[in-house]
Amino acid sequence: MKIGVIGTGYVGLPTGVGLAELGNEVVCVDKIKEKIDDLKAGKLTIYEDGLEELFKKNIAEGRLNFTTSMRKAVTGADVVLIAVGTPPHPITHEADMKYIYAAATELAEYLTDYTVIATKSTVPVGTGDNVEQIIRTKNPTARFDVISLPEFLREGFAIHDFFNPDRIVVGSNSEKATALIKELYAPFADKTNMLFVSRRSSETIKYASNAFLAMKIHYINEIADFCEKSGADISEVAKGMGLDSRIGNRFLNAGLGFGGSCFPKDTMAMAYMGRAVGTPIELIETTIAGNKKRKEKMAERVLDAIKQIPHAKIAVWGLAFKDGTDDCRQSPAMDVIAALLQHKADITAYDPKAMGTACQLLGDKIAYADDMYAAVKDADVLVILTEWKQFAAADLNGVAQLMRNKKILDFRNMLNPAEAIKLGFEYRCIGKKID
Ligand code: NAD
Repeated sequence: MKIGVIGTGYVGLPTGVGLAELGNEVVCVDKIKEKIDDLKAGKLTIYEDGLEELFKKNIAEGRLNFTTSMRKAVTGADVVLIAVGTPPHPITHEADMKYIYAAATELAEYLTDYTVIATKSTVPVGTGDNVEQIIRTKNPTARFDVISLPEFLREGFAIHDFFNPDRIVVGSNSEKATALIKELYAPFADKTNMLFVSRRSSETIKYASNAFLAMKIHYINEIADFCEKSGADISEVAKGMGLDSRIGNRFLNAGLGFGGSCFPKDTMAMAYMGRAVGTPIELIETTIAGNKKRKEKMAERVLDAIKQIPHAKIAVWGLAFKDGTDDCRQSPAMDVIAALLQHKADITAYDPKAMGTACQLLGDKIAYADDMYAAVKDADVLVILTEWKQFAAADLNGVAQLMRNKKILDFRNMLNPAEAIKLGFEYRCIGKKID
């Protein structure tokens, strides 16, 4: 099949690469020329495990192309995927649809034969109707259907998730479009659940799922606070809860709150949608407020740890919003750092993948270390903010030698408390009372 992908970000690029690997002819379009120049030159613009190999292979085999021309991506395509951003509106916090509607307007004039326009972006209920209307107005003779094809990939696992989806949800009001999408995803038919629902249900499934996962994270964080006061151990509690198949063991890692490019904006958008139709979703409203407070609380813990130390130096391990990605958008690490910077904190940070993206956001407000040991040199407190596996395997003895004061705030529960304490660290983690 011929596929056009609009937007070469964290969703569009892995999806385009994956579809090319399945044998489709894929043309990816982005309006940012520098991104396209890099991609055309064989240089990846994001980090995703396993992406590079497939990206290079499919370019070499001629199935994957990049362009800034909407016409080249859309004309003659069987399916056009819209994978542009839907950031929060700065004032109302609803999903800002300007990129979606601009893409719909731009693509309309290039539709020639029958085309399925599939919205991969996370969009509010009713967006499919609006996209349809925009295209119909701009190009009244175009033959097309608009479907909702929400994306469930996890950043850091985008390629794995593309080839091993938990489910494929197709929101379609057209049998012809449904048949084409079934054909596109035929390679996965035997190994995943394909759910065919109405367009509006599909749009809701994506938001309701993300909001549920965010609530799960917030819930376990509140239970962690309870454990700290009551003497229970959150790791044991989460393990015990997770063994119940009705609960499941994922998203039960207590930490410093949820972040990233999806959960914060999707919870706000879902809350807005609830209010807009007169059914406020109180659980989501509480989750949003509680998650914001959590990051402030974590920053306070850091400030508390250094309050007696003049000109304290803070070492930070981890900047990305989670491991496996270089994405720092809405990273809880960034929020904690921002709160610390308000108190003029002296911070040196290290992240295995996200130094470049963090630097774009923070500039020279913090210092950047070449490796995790360089970050802790002469530091008074080490704060762990992202769950990169290499932090768990750190040589703590080496860390102890390098630091000026031996304090660790492990907000991701990466380290072995007993080992840290044995080495003389003042150690604090999440959801455990450490004596
Ligand atoms: P992104 O910001 O990384 O990428 C979007 C890209 O679209 C940008 O490169 C931008 O230049 C391009 N773009 C915008 N308007 C364009 C236009 N008119 N023509 C061509 N290119 C255009 O965003 P993302 O993280 O890939 O997210 C895209 C959507 O997918 C969002 O709605 C998001 O909520 C959803 N989603 C994201 C993830 C994730 O893990 N990032 C997961 C599931 C769903």
